[in-house]
Amino acid sequence: MKNFPCPCQSHSDYHACCGLLHQGGQTATSAEQLMRSRYSAYVLKNISYLQATLHPSHQQPDDAFNLQQTMATTQWLGLSIIDHVEKGDQAEVEFVAFYSDHPIGQLHERSRFSRQQGQWFYMEGDFLPPIKLGRNDSCICGSGKKLKRCHG
Ligand SMILES: [Zn+2]
Ligand SMILES: [Zn+2]
Repeated sequence: MKNFPCPCQSHSDYHACCGLLHQGGQTATSAEQLMRSRYSAYVLKNISYLQATLHPSHQQPDDAFNLQQTMATTQWLGLSIIDHVEKGDQAEVEFVAFYSDHPIGQLHERSRFSRQQGQWFYMEGDFLPPIKLGRNDSCICGSGKKLKRCHG
């Protein structure tokens, strides 16, 4: 197994982070962890994991096709979790997923999650306007460099 930093920017190795969930050895213990693992699955083009973690009530026949299209056309750059609220078996996670574009593309979403028989599922989300990025802030890709010297 080749080691590499987990795409969810946890600063852990993939195999000790989202890889554990992707391989089915563990299930997410929080909606935020599930959200992170779904982002990593987008980066690593793991369609079956994205389908398995989407709540059955929200699955559509063309999901796999749409995921393929998104994966073919989007280069993800980074993830930022803004908020995470959990109440019993319901949760909301607000995040920004950044992708390559000019200027940097942002998927800013507040997502709803639901837990069934101990397992978290993604339900749906509301899109929000892009957040302001400062050119002197650290880069959204997690490199530790300033945005203007990296993906800015
Ligand atoms: Zn991870
Ligand atoms: Zn960068």
